[in-house]
Amino acid sequence: MFDKLKNAVTHLREVSSRIEIDVVAGKDAAELVGIADEIRRAGDSLRTVAVGQVERTNSWRGEGAKSITEWLAIETDCPQYEAQAVVLLAAQLQHLPVTQAALRSGVLSNAQAVEVARGAIVAPNTETQLLNLAKHVTVRDLRDATSRVVAGATDEAERHRQVHKSRYFRSWTDFDGSFNVRGRMTAANGALVMAALKPIQDEIFKVARKSGVHERPEAYAADALMVLCEKASTKHSSESGGKATRPNAVMNIRIDIDALKRGRTVGGEVCEIAGVGPIPVATATAYLGEAFLKLLILDGTEIKTIAHMGRALPAKLRTAIEERDRLCQVPTCDVTLGLEIDHIVPFAEGGPTTFENLVRLCKRHHLQKTHDGYRLLERVPGASSGVGELASEPRWEWRPPRCNDPAPDRDIDLSDTG
Ligand SMILES: [Zn+2]
Repeated sequence: MFDKLKNAVTHLREVSSRIEIDVVAGKDAAELVGIADEIRRAGDSLRTVAVGQVERTNSWRGEGAKSITEWLAIETDCPQYEAQAVVLLAAQLQHLPVTQAALRSGVLSNAQAVEVARGAIVAPNTETQLLNLAKHVTVRDLRDATSRVVAGATDEAERHRQVHKSRYFRSWTDFDGSFNVRGRMTAANGALVMAALKPIQDEIFKVARKSGVHERPEAYAADALMVLCEKASTKHSSESGGKATRPNAVMNIRIDIDALKRGRTVGGEVCEIAGVGPIPVATATAYLGEAFLKLLILDGTEIKTIAHMGRALPAKLRTAIEERDRLCQVPTCDVTLGLEIDHIVPFAEGGPTTFENLVRLCKRHHLQKTHDGYRLLERVPGASSGVGELASEPRWEWRPPRCNDPAPDRDIDLSDTG
């Protein structure tokens, strides 16, 4: 079976492996991308219709997979979401012979077929129209058109219900240790999310622009989400006071005692959020004083101490500090949003969790102090010109890192803070 097809694949591999890509001229390389895409389209469309037949004949069963999607993901080493999309398209194409023919002839790309099928399956009379549109507009515009078709053809309440039923919020850790999320919800709930994030995001953007920082909007949106989460855990901890009943919003950080003292890990030492993954020691210590943190201090594999910082920073103390430091305590910084409580003398060096040793800083200055060696030094009283003490005179001086000191100095300032 399929000898011709298999021979063609072998031939294709031979021909393409003979191409010395390094010596191909730029213009020819661009042409090659087009040819490769043709090959991909041929393969994609064949795979899709074949998957449809596998599903109709149930021939995926009995090979250990729980669904055809899982079977396809294993069989072709593709990610679950891709398998899901192929299975869905294959099922829809059964009812859309014209679209299927367009896909198989290479007129439609896979992405275009997905959009045409999505609309045509709920409004069959739009199939021709969408196919024509696909020839002239980008996939993005096609998607918008399809979404309008779907919206017009389905009952609003029912659609909302379906979307709500399929809601999810998933998180996973990627190869590089990054935390990733992906979610789906109704547009209304999504709007609620955006309404909560947008003003914070705008504020962060304004602050960043003022200080000459330019980053992507989605980076600021991620920051806004963090501000929101921090607010939520702070609120929870101060509302529940001493009698915290729900153990939620607690983050367990496992850290080697030597790494904690040193400020970074060496050779196999641990500093990680339990169940999530490794984080820098500086990040762990930056969290100290936050209500949601539980620090499991390891000596070897044995847990020596559990420092539950939430209890160590009572609501009264937090309130007093919030009252005293209404804005970032770095002189000239006027950020009031998303302030973080910092140990002036780091906790790892024995800095106490007290009114005097805690200060509120904005995220940027907190990061600079924790990671870049910036220092907050107490002003010597009377060091200013002394024409009457102003009540609003800053308590602190902000000093850049010492230039002859490459590593952030974490232990030299002890004397400065008295
Ligand atoms: Zn600041």
